[in-house]
Amino acid sequence: MEIALEPGIPTYSGGLGVLAGDTVRSCADLELPMVFVTLVSRKGYLRQSIAPDGSQQESIDPWNPADHAEPLDAAVAVRIEGRPVWILPWLYMHACPHGGCAPVILLDTHLEVNDPADRGITDRLYGEGADLRLKQEIVLGIGGERILRALGFEITTWHLNEGHAALLPLSLLRRHPLGKDEPAATTLRYDAEPVRERCVFTTHTPVEAGHDRFSYDLVQRMMGDFFEIGQLRHIAGAEELNMTRLALNLSGWVNGVATRHAETAQRMFPGYHIHAVTNGVHVPTWTHPAFAALFQTVSPEWAHDPGALRGADHLADEAVWTAHRQAKGELLAEVQHRCSTALDPDLPVIVFARRMTGYKRADLLFSDLAQLRRVAREFPFQVVMAGKAHPRDEGGKALIRQVHEHARELADTLPVVFLPNYEMGLAKKMVAGADIWLNTPLPPMEASGTSGMKAALNGVPHLSVLDGWWAEACEEGANGWAIGSDGGPPAQHAGELYDKLWSTVLPLWHHDRAGWIALMKQVISRTGSRFHSQRMMRRYAAEAYLR
Ligand SMILES: *Cc1c(COP(=O)(O)O)cnc(C)c1O
Repeated sequence: MEIALEPGIPTYSGGLGVLAGDTVRSCADLELPMVFVTLVSRKGYLRQSIAPDGSQQESIDPWNPADHAEPLDAAVAVRIEGRPVWILPWLYMHACPHGGCAPVILLDTHLEVNDPADRGITDRLYGEGADLRLKQEIVLGIGGERILRALGFEITTWHLNEGHAALLPLSLLRRHPLGKDEPAATTLRYDAEPVRERCVFTTHTPVEAGHDRFSYDLVQRMMGDFFEIGQLRHIAGAEELNMTRLALNLSGWVNGVATRHAETAQRMFPGYHIHAVTNGVHVPTWTHPAFAALFQTVSPEWAHDPGALRGADHLADEAVWTAHRQAKGELLAEVQHRCSTALDPDLPVIVFARRMTGYKRADLLFSDLAQLRRVAREFPFQVVMAGKAHPRDEGGKALIRQVHEHARELADTLPVVFLPNYEMGLAKKMVAGADIWLNTPLPPMEASGTSGMKAALNGVPHLSVLDGWWAEACEEGANGWAIGSDGGPPAQHAGELYDKLWSTVLPLWHHDRAGWIALMKQVISRTGSRFHSQRMMRRYAAEAYLR
């Protein structure tokens, strides 16, 4: 549903879209013969500003497809509520510096021929209400399949990136009816095997809101003429259409996005075999130019084959620290620009930047202000935060207000700033300019997380709850630190966070500069060399696409 192609195209909400963008970029690097399909989302997701009281102000974030993509000479229609809805494809071509490229098709219903009510279907990412959401998923899944066919692509393997695209295999299934003499109603009258052979499904979250469900009344009204509801119940859930269930039943290879997440998904969906392909990030995209210049001395192959970053331990201390100071200076300039706050480059900066939603616990650091003050008095530091809340996530919006309230309360001892409108461009500055990358989700809700991997490419150690990718990456003290490694209850995480900051992390930063730089180099050599999207895409290609 979302792909973060470049900072000027705001058609993504967070990690899912940024990961899809890194997938496109790696696919081009590796010259994999893939084509990507998503919605054009002409009005973007949301542009965030913050009122003085800390409340999130939302506006649309429009962009002009004609500035970045070219309209293709083709169109297909899908039927929604009995009306034809025409879809125009735009071609966005991602080209990588080595010469590889990856085409991305952006689906657009903003056409004169369409009923005015249907023109806005592809306007806004994750539009309001179940009706619009289902319409968007019809355009994506059914329209996406038809567009590729109309454009002459011969697809051997379909990869459903999250359940939003699950109507695609349903569209394929219609081509495989069983003979008329099969027993009716009580069984599926289609042969799912040929569809399953060709479909791969990646599930991205254990969070309930991430799994779309639609009432069959709605499905009947929107697309009752597409697939008989009685038949749909066999493969998409008896009570309601569950997009995850549909994708699971029609895909022959299913995976979660980290080892821990695959285990969680396996418990959520017993009866299916869930593989694990741990996420990765696109190395040249997320490496600051100053570090990129250093990596060039480690190996000229580093961008294409980031395993070469294992050699980063041999970089000169001075050079690493100079590159870090440059990246940090750029982040602090951004803070000055956006918040008129001058942070001190000679004190450590802890960054927390992610979607603002309950399970990510942006407030964990502020659980006990007295303790936090004690830590900050002994080992001064600064906090930089960012993140958008989904327009309907009241809890997420409340978190943003609380962070602002805490920032005011702590003003005398601990500078805390919140940068509005977290997006790819700002993320690049934050992951490179931090001293410490903080991550405090409530286990097991963080399927993977990727921003800590981006930080690692810039030598920034991860201080994180053991969940998602960190559960398999953490080497205590060698590439960062774990919170909750003893398996204690989440209520203890705040206490452990303060302990670790006070006893280990901040003393190392303040009193052992050589030790800190040695750690930064290990972060690159141990984490940066492993958690990249080249490895991720090679695994998808070898294990899922060519199975
Ligand atoms: C990387 C990234 C994310 C995802 O971060 P998580 O670690 O998964 O929380 C979200 N938004 C932006 C803009 C990003 O660059």
